[in-house]
Amino acid sequence: MSSFNWCHGPKCHTYHTQDRVRGSKGSKVLRTRKIKQNTDSEWYCPDDMFNWFCSQTCMHKFIKTNITRVIALAPRNEPLETLINDPVKSESYYGGWNITERGVDTQTE
Ligand SMILES: [Zn+2]
Repeated sequence: MSSFNWCHGPKCHTYHTQDRVRGSKGSKVLRTRKIKQNTDSEWYCPDDMFNWFCSQTCMHKFIKTNITRVIALAPRNEPLETLINDPVKSESYYGGWNITERGVDTQTE
């Protein structure tokens, strides 16, 4: 089964690219891109952001347009905390510092 979503980028239909041009001579339009949903594929992930956006530009424009409403879905009014026992400070390969727990491998996210 083949299905698709329309890109949710608020300005997707305004970008001048060849693949967005639709219509016949004299009545051409730029149209929002379709995003194919390979729902039958083993690798399909229903929660993937790019099921809804054709590009990072469209995704960022959507977020910028809707950020207050998105945050309102799960507001955070207090910080979260993770308990770490016996923290050890070490220099990070990328600059700055890593904080790890003694006897526990560095966690990467
Ligand atoms: Zn788009």
